[in-house]
Amino acid sequence: MTKCVIIGSGIVGLTTAYELNKTGHQVTIIDNQSTGQASKSAAGIMFPLNPWKNTKYMQDLCISGHEQYNNFFNTLSIKDKREINFEKKNLLIFGNDIESAKNWYKENPVINSSYIKKNLNSREKFIKESHKNFLEIENINTLDPRKLINFLRNTLLKNNVEFKKSKIEKIDSFLRKPSNNKYEFIILCAGVWSNHILGNKNIRLKPIKGQLLHFKTREKLIDNVLLYNNYYIIPRRDNRIVVGATIEDVGFDENITSSAKIFLEKSVSEIFSNSVEMLSLEQTYGFRPYSDKEDPYINIDIKNERLIYNFGHYRYGILTAISSAKIVKKLIS
Ligand SMILES: Cc1cc2nc3c(=O)[nH]c(=O)nc-3n(C[C@H](O)[C@H](O)[C@H](O)COP(=O)(O)OP(=O)(O)OC[C@H]3O[C@@H](n4cnc5c(N)ncnc54)[C@H](O)[C@@H]3O)c2cc1C
Repeated sequence: MTKCVIIGSGIVGLTTAYELNKTGHQVTIIDNQSTGQASKSAAGIMFPLNPWKNTKYMQDLCISGHEQYNNFFNTLSIKDKREINFEKKNLLIFGNDIESAKNWYKENPVINSSYIKKNLNSREKFIKESHKNFLEIENINTLDPRKLINFLRNTLLKNNVEFKKSKIEKIDSFLRKPSNNKYEFIILCAGVWSNHILGNKNIRLKPIKGQLLHFKTREKLIDNVLLYNNYYIIPRRDNRIVVGATIEDVGFDENITSSAKIFLEKSVSEIFSNSVEMLSLEQTYGFRPYSDKEDPYINIDIKNERLIYNFGHYRYGILTAISSAKIVKKLIS
């Protein structure tokens, strides 16, 4: 059993703690707030959206993430699944991406898919007639990331994982502090802020802001997750819907913008017939941790073998959290 400290309690940090705790490691988590910034803002699609645009490493991490979550969900009770809003849905892909998606899924038969034409109304009656062609991917997982955060925190607390509230300024001073010598491994999971702490000139991380719109409809609008060009629409319980997301390279700008709202509302009206009435509930934003190499950093620091990286998951940090945590587990064993 080793003593590990994890910096960052977003889904990546919490899941890393969960995996290490399960195999008997003693874990402390440090965060300057109580929730993951990007994680609490995520949409909760536990599936790659357009994997053909990603590196092979990221694709493998996503496919493995999909499988690992299937295993994880199988261990949960019905009550726990309800608590995190876990649901199996089908993903309907429309628009420009159908061909690329079709080719990718043909080569990656681990995931079932079927190509359907002119049969849309039996699947989704509110979608405009003009969107007849779509690719259907069966049984993808969805959940509410905010609820997954709560679930993981509570599970970790029950299993004696220690949570500390503190801001880590620089990793060098953290490592120099004698009281931190007790930690055999320091695992950095601070999302887009990881390199503020690390200060490694060879690593380039930046925030890519994403805004989501949460709304309600009077009657149930959709059964499936829809992916249409640059955005997705996810059904939740009680006629709630989430539409997202914008992709904004605007630094750490924390403003909710009316231009994002208009873009997302227009995206919804592009796909549904005019009769749909949307009651706006909430607009949220998050900073995706984008790394220039387009892969997350999951490795041992070259100068200090006690220091492990696990950050930079960009659009897929929820989906790949378990597969990334398992890599970390191997690195420290
Ligand atoms: C709009 C949107 C939709 C998304 N949808 C999906 C999706 O459907 N599926 C999916 O897989 N991914 C999705 N993502 C991506 C996903 O949210 C991220 O990849 C993931 O949340 C990154 O998690 P993280 O734990 O690395 O970072 P974060 O959740 O940002 O957590 C980092 C933590 O580090 C802490 N921290 C930072 N600095 C310090 C410091 N100096 N000292 C101590 N603590 C510190 C922060 O307080 C924070 O709690 C989405 C992202 C956005 C913005």
